[in-house]
Amino acid sequence: MSAANGEETSKRVRCVALLSGGLDSTLAVKLMKDMGVEVKALAIKTPFCDFDCGKGCGFRVKEVADSLGVDLKTVYLGEEYIEMLKSPKYGYGSGMNPCIDCRVMMYRVAREYMGECGADFIITGEVLNQRPMSQNMRALRIIEKESNLEGKVLRPLSAKQLKPTEAESRGLVKRDMLLGIKGRSRRVQMELAKQLGLDAPNAAGGCLLTDRQFARRIKDLLEHVHSPTLNDIELLKVGRHFRLSRDAKLVVGRNKDENEIIESLMQDGDIMLEPKDVKGPKALLRCSKDKMDERIVALAASIVCRYSDADGPCTIVISDNITVKEIKSEPITNEMLESYRI
Ligand code: SF4
Repeated sequence: MSAANGEETSKRVRCVALLSGGLDSTLAVKLMKDMGVEVKALAIKTPFCDFDCGKGCGFRVKEVADSLGVDLKTVYLGEEYIEMLKSPKYGYGSGMNPCIDCRVMMYRVAREYMGECGADFIITGEVLNQRPMSQNMRALRIIEKESNLEGKVLRPLSAKQLKPTEAESRGLVKRDMLLGIKGRSRRVQMELAKQLGLDAPNAAGGCLLTDRQFARRIKDLLEHVHSPTLNDIELLKVGRHFRLSRDAKLVVGRNKDENEIIESLMQDGDIMLEPKDVKGPKALLRCSKDKMDERIVALAASIVCRYSDADGPCTIVISDNITVKEIKSEPITNEMLESYRI
């Protein structure tokens, strides 16, 4: 079959593309396809991407892959990602985003897939200097080195700003058909999308680790729980959070949907609280087994009482999977409430 440069080769040139569904990676795939390169798309999910959070990003990456006419494989990085997040070798960005270590993990998955599907190289939608932590020259080099992919990652949007990769040196793609975009502006990419007849997608699903409020929550979790579970992470995504003690945390729903999610995340050892005769939130109290005591439960109840429709004291129903009891509670003062908020 023909290679991208028109020379005859024994097999069709094939690449693995890290596809997020955003504009840059979509364009990178399109450029490769237009050069005749076969593209195998790879979407990588972590517990912190907005991928399947109801905003449709998971569907969008599938839609984008379909519209580009490329196969899509999705890989989920779960517990190993949380483990990395506790102590990333290259540190965090402005939030709790360990971008360099995160990209290393993604590149490693891409390398594995490259071997599986017999691809010649990897492409990404990365643009030099677009993102401060992971897309500067030094970071790109580190990521390639750590993932054992030096020279094997082609970034079609910025290639002319970077050293030629193996794919270019071997003539698998033509360097002069690649681009030399750099910087944070998306203007060139938007124009290109128009020229290529692509529906310019919005930025891909956000990463919760860059969100300030979420970053506070994950930091608190990592400081207090040695081995957080995926359930702990899901709980971070809903409700108001309060650190009641070294070992106890309370999550209070903000609406009916959140109340349902919180209830669904309840596990052995957790306590559920809700007001009895008035409207109000459901709240989940999570505490190390031997540290749960009446003082903590009373404090949690006073917070639930504060968020209920009661004008003053109210009855709070306290239940675990075995027992149900009721206690009378006074609403906590605003000042005290704020001192516990994460
Ligand atoms: S923003 Fe989030 S998903 Fe993107 S590289 Fe950084 S940590 Fe990874």
